Amino acid sequence: MSDFSNESVLAIESTLNEVDRALERLRVGTYRTCQVCNTPIGDGELIADPLLANCPAHPELA
Ligand SMILES: [Zn+2]
Repeated sequence: MSDFSNESVLAIESTLNEVDRALERLRVGTYRTCQVCNTPIGDGELIADPLLANCPAHPELA
């Protein structure tokens, strides 16, 4: 396996993990809540990035 395909697999796994976490947040009812400060995340932000876990106040975590 070349380095390129290894990086691709890691990127896919990372995205899958984000999807898993988003689905879990949907299941437990915290999907629209910032994981850092518990502020509700706006519809606009979630439409722009459905996997968003934090409000825009924490750009370093995006
Ligand atoms: Zn926040």
